[in-house]
Amino acid sequence: MDTKAMFNISYGLFVLTANQDGKDNGCIVNTVTQVTSDPLQVTIAVNKLNYTHDMIAATGHFTASILSEKADFEIFKRFGFQSGRNTDKFAGFDAVQRTANGTLAVTQGTNSYISADVTQKIDVGTHTIFLAKVVDVESLSDIPSATYTYYQQHIKPKPQPKAPQGKTIWRCKICGYEYEGEELPADFICPLCKHPASDFEKVTA
Ligand code: FE
Repeated sequence: MDTKAMFNISYGLFVLTANQDGKDNGCIVNTVTQVTSDPLQVTIAVNKLNYTHDMIAATGHFTASILSEKADFEIFKRFGFQSGRNTDKFAGFDAVQRTANGTLAVTQGTNSYISADVTQKIDVGTHTIFLAKVVDVESLSDIPSATYTYYQQHIKPKPQPKAPQGKTIWRCKICGYEYEGEELPADFICPLCKHPASDFEKVTA
């Protein structure tokens, strides 16, 4: 088995948002799929480590905003490189629009949003698959959607061959996230792509 072949599946990239008890939160996912058109239904697969996962499981409402090729790296950092458990990811960010089901659409660096209400949940181990009925969908721009490959080639900063002087960093080979420190904790999980410590490489000065 050559599991690298799995990287050849094409994916889009999305900001997935939820609202619970008046709090908005969001994360980056690559797994939004339309499954039927009548009725209009989508599935999302969300890692259980994401705070947004728990919010969607509790409330049954979400919005997936489709990232475009004009999305800048800042938006990936804001929604993907930190946890909503201890930060307000929407602080100082006003490029949003409240949708029909009470969740937020991101209107910057995106070309559309899809709001949906969960009808079924499937526990698949590390992730939950949510089947949901679309309740609100809008186009925001004509800019093409960013694929995961486009993100890797054009949005993610080019990795520096060396770490800054005097520092050691551990770089996620999957998404490029960098952890600074001499040793990477063995149970470390990449906050962006959720891959384990074994997918990190050591980069020294
Ligand atoms: Fe990663």
